[in-house]
Amino acid sequence: MSLPLAEASMCIGVGRGNMEFQDKTLRCRDCEQSFVFTAGEQGFYLEKGLMNEPQRCPNCRANRRRERAGGVRDGGATITCASCGREATVPFVPRLDRPVYCNDCFSTQRAATEVRVGASVE
Ligand SMILES: [Zn+2]
Ligand SMILES: [Zn+2]
Repeated sequence: MSLPLAEASMCIGVGRGNMEFQDKTLRCRDCEQSFVFTAGEQGFYLEKGLMNEPQRCPNCRANRRRERAGGVRDGGATITCASCGREATVPFVPRLDRPVYCNDCFSTQRAATEVRVGASVE
């Protein structure tokens, strides 16, 4: 009986109850340059429960993070306004179960609410 499969898995270190990572070369989907997904990073990803390999090289990842921050304080996010549909940055991470508005629409909404509240009090 020959077991070529068992032999193969011995070679890559799988099946011995001890995951070993190998540096992997991936291609960035933004700049299309190849980059190395190191064994250390793979361990880090697994620890964080991230099942997907990174889609972008470290450079493009940093760029995107900076772009997304777009001058907004830490924790900000880019949203699509639920009222006018424009993109806007807000200094908080919006909850998914609530509509988010750009600054303009937000003040319009708030003004409207205040008028209504004022009216009901009188
Ligand atoms: Zn890239
Ligand atoms: Zn708006």
